[in-house]
Amino acid sequence: MTFNHVVQFLQTLAPLAHLTPAEISILKTPHHLHQAELHLNGKKYPAFRIQFNNARGPYKGGIRFHPEVNEDEVKSLAFWMTLKTAVADIPFGGGKGGVIVDPKTLNEKELQVLSRAYVRAFADHLGSNIDIPAPDVYTNGQIMAWMLDEYEQQVGYHDPGMITGKPLELGGSLVRDIATALGGVFVLEEAVKKLKFKGKRIAIQGFGNAGMNAAKLLAQRGFTIIAVSDSKGGVFDAKGLNVDEVVKIKDNTGSVQNYSSGKKMSNEELLTLDCDILVPSALSEVITEKNADAVKAKIVLELANGPTTPEADKILHRNNILVLPDILANAGGVTVSYFEWVQNQSGYYWKEEEVRARLREKMTEAFGKLWSAWEGKKYDFRTATYIHAVKKVLAAERLRGKV
Ligand code: GLU
Repeated sequence: MTFNHVVQFLQTLAPLAHLTPAEISILKTPHHLHQAELHLNGKKYPAFRIQFNNARGPYKGGIRFHPEVNEDEVKSLAFWMTLKTAVADIPFGGGKGGVIVDPKTLNEKELQVLSRAYVRAFADHLGSNIDIPAPDVYTNGQIMAWMLDEYEQQVGYHDPGMITGKPLELGGSLVRDIATALGGVFVLEEAVKKLKFKGKRIAIQGFGNAGMNAAKLLAQRGFTIIAVSDSKGGVFDAKGLNVDEVVKIKDNTGSVQNYSSGKKMSNEELLTLDCDILVPSALSEVITEKNADAVKAKIVLELANGPTTPEADKILHRNNILVLPDILANAGGVTVSYFEWVQNQSGYYWKEEEVRARLREKMTEAFGKLWSAWEGKKYDFRTATYIHAVKKVLAAERLRGKV
């Protein structure tokens, strides 16, 4: 989503949250925009690290490797991280990183060189009490491991808390690999309880870390996954897909579309499919003013960042569709990143059950607070979530004497 959209949204929020022009200015101004060019095989890859706001704690947010990364988008994502950490009530600010690269064109060795180059370029600005990256689109635990190693070589001491989403052997946390999806499932379960919602048919767009794990977790909980998709397209079966089988097919052939007993469908068709719950789990701006009116789901669980445009949001609200917004729905990832950081800082590691229980507690509390603040209001649930988040950021800024 463009940063212009973000600013527009802040403006619409202003009267509802009683924001002054000075407060809006603080909220929309990133602290630092770091840029670099990473060199690999004679080619240059533009790279960014945007540190948006650290009033509530060190900057925090993932690094994405994607051909469509651009500074404007990284800025929006860094802004959202600022709000996401506030919603999840964890002591971090917001930041985000990106490299304009198609990682699918690189071999393992090249990927390692690029990951290390990223850290060398921004090492002065990173650290467990400064700015803490994590995985995002097309980055993973192995990349975090190379980045940690490069950072520790640069500074000359161990600092596992400088990055999260690491493999367990290097100080990662149990549950981090499925945390985004699991956090989303906890939020969905709370919403279902509040609405006494009976619908079980789910369509999931995107089959990366978030989408795939959501499919598995929701199927285990008795939901029927009727459609899933990846960048190549989707597959649909009204009776429900065999999720384990789809995962196998994806692993073996590269696309869920090769699942043989379903009907093929496009990503676009999946979004407007007759289902009860829609879970966009891929890239941003997929629900737009063009298709929002055709969305048939009654609940949208945003596991992706920014999947719904502001225009589409208005249409969904008008059509009585509950959107569980990204900064709440996918906050499970950064929440377990926080747990990972806590474990790194204390050098004491928790059991799986403890991480799961703490994640459930955090997500349930966040949802409960937002729901009670929203009940009876005319505006949508996303607006209530944003109001809550910006107020928390501003409260910290006020105590610091910045507003
Ligand atoms: N990239 C994830 C997100 O957008 C995780 C960020 C983190 O763990 O710092 O929320």
